[in-house]
Amino acid sequence: MSLELEEKAMEILQKRGVSATCSRCGSNDWGRDLVEIHTRMFDEKSRTPGNFGYIPTIMMVCHNCGYVVHHILKEIGALG
Ligand SMILES: [Zn+2]
Repeated sequence: MSLELEEKAMEILQKRGVSATCSRCGSNDWGRDLVEIHTRMFDEKSRTPGNFGYIPTIMMVCHNCGYVVHHILKEIGALG
């Protein structure tokens, strides 16, 4: 994943009014990186764990308190 994609995701979040203030401590000092969250999907038919997968996100980390937030890139339209 690229810096270009990271910039695009940040632009989308800003346009949508996502706050730059940490909801845990009030700081505005964030770090960010593009990361994949690895998951295991749940098979609703058999009610058992299904296939493994991953979700591309932009992760924000508060440098003051360590609070972590993920925004799913597909959900905000950054991948399309
Ligand atoms: Zn914080």
